[in-house]
Amino acid sequence: MTWNVWPRTKVEASACVIPLAVSIAPIRSHPDIPTLPYAPLRCKSCSSALNAFARVDFTAKIWICPFCYQRNHFPPHYAMISETNLPCELYPQYTTVQYSLQANPDPNNPSNVPQLPPVFVFVLDTCMIEEELGFVKSAMKQALGLLPEHALVGFVSFGTQAHAHELGFSDISKVYVFRGDKEISKEQVLEQLGLGSAGRRPTAGYPKGLQNGHSNTGVNRFLLPASDCEYTLNSLLDELQTDQWPVQPGNRASRCTGVALSVATGLLGACMPGTGARIIALVGGPCTEGPGTIVSKDLSEPVRSHKDLDKDAAPYFKKAVRFYDSLAKQLVSQGHVLDLFASALDQVCFGHLL
Ligand SMILES: [Zn+2]
Repeated sequence: MTWNVWPRTKVEASACVIPLAVSIAPIRSHPDIPTLPYAPLRCKSCSSALNAFARVDFTAKIWICPFCYQRNHFPPHYAMISETNLPCELYPQYTTVQYSLQANPDPNNPSNVPQLPPVFVFVLDTCMIEEELGFVKSAMKQALGLLPEHALVGFVSFGTQAHAHELGFSDISKVYVFRGDKEISKEQVLEQLGLGSAGRRPTAGYPKGLQNGHSNTGVNRFLLPASDCEYTLNSLLDELQTDQWPVQPGNRASRCTGVALSVATGLLGACMPGTGARIIALVGGPCTEGPGTIVSKDLSEPVRSHKDLDKDAAPYFKKAVRFYDSLAKQLVSQGHVLDLFASALDQVCFGHLL
């Protein structure tokens, strides 16, 4: 936290010059946080988990939810509960506990969801100098090596055009090329990748009837377990060159970040809806091509400054914001995350993406 204290009133909060910020590391292991081998008890009205702040009536076997004051009965397996025999989550010193849920769904307990593998789609910008691309490649290889073996991995590279790599086709490298200068709809992405309605019905919302965690061909073609595709992906990265399209003197490289992100989003939407999959975008500069463009290619025209934004003098701003807003909505409806990694924040223009 910024100051390790929390403003107690609205007035105090508004008087904070430096905004209140909190950094949370939910999966960091902590020696003082116990892990419980069962599912949490949930309040029947608001679904909060039973916790140390709940009031408990040990004789009536009832707990009162501290959030909504709903009275909840303990289930039969909590029958032994008493003031001297507390389940771990009710110990006053354990205000935070972790629950380790079984992989098999338990029909009697809907809070036990089937565990899908984590999914990562890397989106790599190739518009950078050789040396930088070398660094980002080695960082990506390192990241691949650290992923759990069963994690599913996909790969999209981009420059003037966006390339979706079919990792499941390991004999030769197979790439689907998308024009960078044209806005492309979700349906067009799927059609071009062979995942459209001709091949299969795109799943709306959450996955239904999944077998072994995933059921459609798109997964086998574009998303592979890290252990199966690490070699393919490493050799692909070794061969990957900086964007080969000529850049006119005095111009910026043509970089179709918008199309590349649309492709990655469409791919995940078709293959892994509702799974919390992540797109990991590694970008080296502003989008200059197609949808989401924030600055022209002409280097004499600087990237908009905060002053330009205030004066409404950033010609690309509104259109780009509209594009990234709709992309964000698509990601949210699919339950997916976009992580953006860049080294020069202004040059990439995060403002448009936020
Ligand atoms: Zn409640």
